[in-house]
Amino acid sequence: MSVMRLRKVIGIVGLLMIAATSAWAGNTDTLFVSQPIPDSIWQRMQGKSYKQNCPISRDELRYLSLSYCDRNGNTQQGEMVCNKMIAQDLVDIFRQLWKEGYPIERMQLIDDYDADDQRSMTANNTSCFNYRPISGTKKISKHGRGMAIDVNPLYNPYVRSGRVEPAEGRRWAFRREQRKDIPMKIDSRDLCCRLFLQHGFRWGGNWTNSKDYQHFEK
Ligand SMILES: [Zn+2]
Repeated sequence: MSVMRLRKVIGIVGLLMIAATSAWAGNTDTLFVSQPIPDSIWQRMQGKSYKQNCPISRDELRYLSLSYCDRNGNTQQGEMVCNKMIAQDLVDIFRQLWKEGYPIERMQLIDDYDADDQRSMTANNTSCFNYRPISGTKKISKHGRGMAIDVNPLYNPYVRSGRVEPAEGRRWAFRREQRKDIPMKIDSRDLCCRLFLQHGFRWGGNWTNSKDYQHFEK
């Protein structure tokens, strides 16, 4: 059997095991699973979230299937690539968020947006791994190691010196403490924020020189 073919068989067996596991759990409607990056996903990432010279190897990353509640309360199936060091945290956190009906707009790989963070944020897409510098710098972001996640980024923008990213999030960027008109608002009392902090993440809303309300990193 060729290596390619063997990989394919292993992939199919893996998927069957995942399906069986979720069926045994008595829960066929939701999926909270972490697995090595499948070949099809790896292809999808090339030249997009996974760029040349990326120092992170494929086997340091994980592909997550995560159910979530959309803004209408319907269960949707999301996907995410992250560092294997936080894969179990994310599985646990998103399972809890789904249980509590916490709304998430969408959860697609950033490769669907050609790894363009501005486009992904504007679409209010929740995502994790993307090999890129911190906006406005040459330093590689924690997203570049799959160690940071952005949640509902349109309504929870990144604010630095009056500059807002995504630009479309400006109307939700300021005087957030007292405001009740911000959809999917992340603040220190928010369930999502509390769960990430419990799992040892830092929240960008606690930063002093800038505020990154969508951002959690380890
Ligand atoms: Zn971020």
